[in-house]
Amino acid sequence: MLSTMQDAPLLVSGILRHGQQVYGESRVITIVGPDGQATEATFAVVAERSERLAKALARLGVGDSDRVGTFLWNNQAHQEAYLAIPSMGAVLHTLNIRLFPEQLAYVVNHAEDKVIIVDASLIPLLARVRDQLTTVKHIVVVGPGDSSALGETHSYEELLAAEEPGYAWPTFDERQAAAMCYTSGTTGNPKGVVYSHRSTYLHSLAVTSGAALGIHDQDRVLSIVPMFHANAWGTPYAAFMTGADLVMPQQFLQAAPLAAIIAAHRPTLSAGVPTIWNDLLRYSQSNPIDMSSLRMITAGGAAVPRQLIERFRDELGVQLVQGWGMTETSPICSLALPPRGVPEEEEIEWRSKTGRVVAGVEVRVVAEDGSILPNDGESVGEFEVRGPWITGSYYGDPTPERFHDGWLCTGDIGSLDPRGYMQISDRTKDVIKSGGEWISSVELENEVMAHPGVVEAAVIAVPDERWSERPLVAVVVEAGSATSADQLVEFLGGRVSRWWLPERWVFIGEVPKTSVGKFDKKVLRAQYADGTLEVVEVDIQTAR
Ligand code: ADP
Repeated sequence: MLSTMQDAPLLVSGILRHGQQVYGESRVITIVGPDGQATEATFAVVAERSERLAKALARLGVGDSDRVGTFLWNNQAHQEAYLAIPSMGAVLHTLNIRLFPEQLAYVVNHAEDKVIIVDASLIPLLARVRDQLTTVKHIVVVGPGDSSALGETHSYEELLAAEEPGYAWPTFDERQAAAMCYTSGTTGNPKGVVYSHRSTYLHSLAVTSGAALGIHDQDRVLSIVPMFHANAWGTPYAAFMTGADLVMPQQFLQAAPLAAIIAAHRPTLSAGVPTIWNDLLRYSQSNPIDMSSLRMITAGGAAVPRQLIERFRDELGVQLVQGWGMTETSPICSLALPPRGVPEEEEIEWRSKTGRVVAGVEVRVVAEDGSILPNDGESVGEFEVRGPWITGSYYGDPTPERFHDGWLCTGDIGSLDPRGYMQISDRTKDVIKSGGEWISSVELENEVMAHPGVVEAAVIAVPDERWSERPLVAVVVEAGSATSADQLVEFLGGRVSRWWLPERWVFIGEVPKTSVGKFDKKVLRAQYADGTLEVVEVDIQTAR
C-alpha cells in the first residue's frame, strides 16, 4: 500500500525560500577586520542577491548540472553561492583554498568546473593554476582587487547589479546533484563526493535537531570551519532552515581576531577543528576572553583531547561537544552528547567519546576478515556507515574497496557501544602495530597532551627491528618550558600500558597541519624517513 502523502522533492531552493520568507530579518554577518568589524545583510537581502546571482550565472551560460567552483572564504558571497547554485539546478563545487596547486588544478579539471567565483584576496592563488584549468570559461571576482593575473574576469557586484531580483527556481528530482566536495587527499589524488538535494536537505535537518546542535532562531552561529571543508558541517543551510544568524569570519581565523569576534558579535554556537580551539584556549591564558554568549561549541575532523573539553568547561565555561564525520558523510554522523540520567561528574566520560550516532545514520564495526563485530563497546574494528547522506561511490573514480555491501568503509578504527556511542582509536593508516598488537596513536596523543607543559603532540608509527613498529611522539612544548622526554615518559607511566611507552621523541616548533588544520602525519612520516627529525631516545625496557 502506498501512502497518500505528497511527493514534494527536498530541494535546496526550499531551504532558501524558507529562510527568505520566514526568517527574512535574520542576518549574515561578514567580518571585515581583525577587531570584529563587520558588514551585514538580512536573509531577505541574501536570498534576493542569490536570485540575481542565479540569473547572472545563467547569462554566463551555466545550465542544468554545470559545475560552479567557489574559491572563497566564509562570507556573504559564499552563502549566496551556496543558495543560488544548487537552487538553479547547477552544482556548487567548493574548492579548498589551501590545496597544493597541482591538486587544485586536478579537482577543477576533474569536476569540469565551468565557472569559478573567487575572492579578490585569493586571486594570486588561483592565478598560479589558471593556465592548467581546461574547462573554466568564466571567472567571477568578489571584492575589489587587481584581477589581471587571471585574464578576463567579471565583477561579482556588477553581475548582480545588472539583474532584477526574482528567479523561478525549477523543480526537479531531489536525487539530482546539488554540490560536490573533494576529500583533502592525504593519500593520492583527492576524491570527489557529490551531494544530492535530498541528502543535503536531510543532513541539514539532522544538524538542526536537538540530538545534534539543536539550532533555532535565537542562535547565532560562528562558522569557523571553512565552507570548503565538508559543507561547513551543515551550518549554512541549517541557519537558513531555522533563522539562526550566521557570523562569517573570512580570513580572521587566528586566536586574537576570533576572540574579538566572539566578544563583539556574541555567537551562541560555533564549529571548528580542535587545533583552532586549542589555539583559542592558549590565547585566553594571557588575554581573557568573554565566551559567555556561547551555549555550545563543536569540534570534529580529528580526535578532541579530553583535557581540551575539560579546560573549556572549567576555564572558559563553555561546553565543547565532539562530533565525528567525513567529507563522504556530509559530514555529521555522531555527536558526543551524554545520555540522559548520567550524573554530572560522569558526563565527561561520555563527552570524551567520539560521538553518539544521529538518526538517519547507521554504524557498524567490521573485523579484518569482513565479519560484523558486536556493539559491545569493546570489540575493535573498522567503522562502516550507511544512510541517506552517506556517499555510495566517488565521482568518476571507481574504488570498490572503499565500499562493503552498500556500506562506506571509513578507514577509522574503533568500537561501538550498545547505546550507539562510537570510540575511535585510530585511522587504519595511522595505527601502530607493535609486536602484533595495536597501539592507539589517538589515545597516546591525548595522554601526552594532558601534560600541562605540552601544547600539541602527534604520534606516528616508525619501523622497529624488534617490534616491527613503535610509536614516535612529535611534541610541541609551551614556550620557555623545559619539559623533557624523560619527564613525559614518567608522566605517561601511570596513564598507559607499559608496553605503549614511546622510546622515540622529537621536539618541534609546531605540528605540521593539513589544508583543513588537522595534524599532518604524512609530513611527519616523510620527515622521519629522510632523517630531518632530531630524535631523542629514552631508554625504556619494553615490558611485553
Ligand atoms: P580527510 O580524510 O582528508 O582528513 P575529512 O575531513 O573528510 O578529510 O576527514 C574525515 C576523517 O577525520 C575521519 O575519517 C576521521 O579519521 C577524522 N575524524 C573526524 N572527526 C573525528 C573525531 N571526532 N575523532 C577522531 N577522528 C575524527
